[in-house]
Amino acid sequence: MRDERKAMNDEYSFDLKEAFRSDAQKDAGEGVAQEELSLRPQRLKEYIGQKQVIDSLTIAILAAKKRQEPLDHIIFQGPPGLGKTTLANIVSKEMGVRIHHATGPALEKGGDLVSILTSLERGDIFFIDEIHRLPKIVEELLCPAMEDFAMDIIFDKGANARTYRSRLEWFTLIGATTRSGLLSRPLRERFGIVRELGFYTMDEIALIIKRSAAILKVGIDDEGGYEISRRARGTPRVANHLLKRVRDYSQVKADGKIDGSVAQKALSLEGVDSDGLTILDRKFLEAIVTYYKGGPAGIEAIAATLQEDSGTLEELVEPFLLQQGYLIRTSSGRRATEKAYLHLNVTPPKDSPQPQRSLL
Ligand code: ADP
Repeated sequence: MRDERKAMNDEYSFDLKEAFRSDAQKDAGEGVAQEELSLRPQRLKEYIGQKQVIDSLTIAILAAKKRQEPLDHIIFQGPPGLGKTTLANIVSKEMGVRIHHATGPALEKGGDLVSILTSLERGDIFFIDEIHRLPKIVEELLCPAMEDFAMDIIFDKGANARTYRSRLEWFTLIGATTRSGLLSRPLRERFGIVRELGFYTMDEIALIIKRSAAILKVGIDDEGGYEISRRARGTPRVANHLLKRVRDYSQVKADGKIDGSVAQKALSLEGVDSDGLTILDRKFLEAIVTYYKGGPAGIEAIAATLQEDSGTLEELVEPFLLQQGYLIRTSSGRRATEKAYLHLNVTPPKDSPQPQRSLL
C-alpha cells in the first residue's frame, strides 16, 4: 500500500515543489535562469499588488533617502512565491545600494556571518531568505550586530579567551520568512519594518500573467490569462510557472497563441483542476477525507500517509487549502470542510465543518 502511494506521488505531473522552488535559494547557489530573472519587477512602480506593503515601503525609502540614512531592518513574511525576494531586490535598486543574498540554513557558522557583515558598506542590504532557519549560534551574533552595528568576536577559550569588538558599517538587514511563528522574539524585535504578504487577487495575478507574457513574447488573450490566473493559487511564482507550461503547449499543439481553450487543455494535462488544485492538494484532502474520516488529523500523520515531508505540506499545500476553505485547523488537527468533500465528489457527513473564514 505504501509503495502504491509513493508511486502515485511520483506521478504528480505539476510539481508543486519545483514550481515553488525559491529563486533566492537559486540566487545563492546555482544561479537563476535568465528568463526567470527577466520576469522579476525591478522597481516599485512596476510591482503589481500588495498595495499596502508597497505604499509603506515607498514612504520608508523616501524618508531614508531624505535623511541620507540607510533603511531600517525589514522583514517580509508570507507563503513562498509571493514576492519577498523580489521586494528585497527592488528595495536595493530604489535605495541605490548593493544587495548580498544568503539563506538561513546556509549560514552554518558564526564565521560565515562575520565574513559577510564585515564586507558590507554603509547602506548595503543583507538579504537572508528563510531567516527562521538561521542556526541559533548565528542568530546570537546577528541580533547585536543589527542593533549596535558592531560584533564581539571571541578568540580562544577558557582563561585565554579575549574579546575583540569589530565595528560594522550601518547596513540594512532584510529577512524573508514563510514561518514567522518560528522566529525568535529577540530577532523579531530588531526589525523596524514588519510586512506581511498575502495571496494576490485573481485580477492582480491576471495582470502579472499579462506582464510576464509580454516579456516572454507570448500572445495571450484575456480568457487565456483568466484560466491561468484561476489556477495560480494567488501566487505569482505559480502563475509564471503555469504560463511557461501553457506557452510550451501552445507552441506544440496550437499556433503559439494562448486563448481560454488552449490554457484549459494545457493545464488539465498538468493535473491542475479548474479550481486550481493540484494532484498533491487533492491527495492531501483525500487522505483526510478517506483515510482519517474527515479528521482531525495531525500534519505528521498526513505526511506519513502521503510519504511527503510535513514541512512541504505545511508551506506549500496547506496555506492555499485553508485560504480557499477546503480545510480548517483545530487544536487536535486538520479537518476537511464540506467544500473538500464536494470537491472530491464524496457526500459530506452532516457535521462536516464550514470554513472558519474566507480570506478571499
Ligand atoms: P518569494 O521570495 O516570496 O518566495 P519571489 O520574490 O522569488 O517570491 O517571487 C517569485 C516570482 O514571482 C518572481 O520571480 C517574480 O517573477 C514573480 N513576482 C513576484 N511578485 C510579483 C509581482 N508583484 N509582480 C510581478 N511578478 C512578481
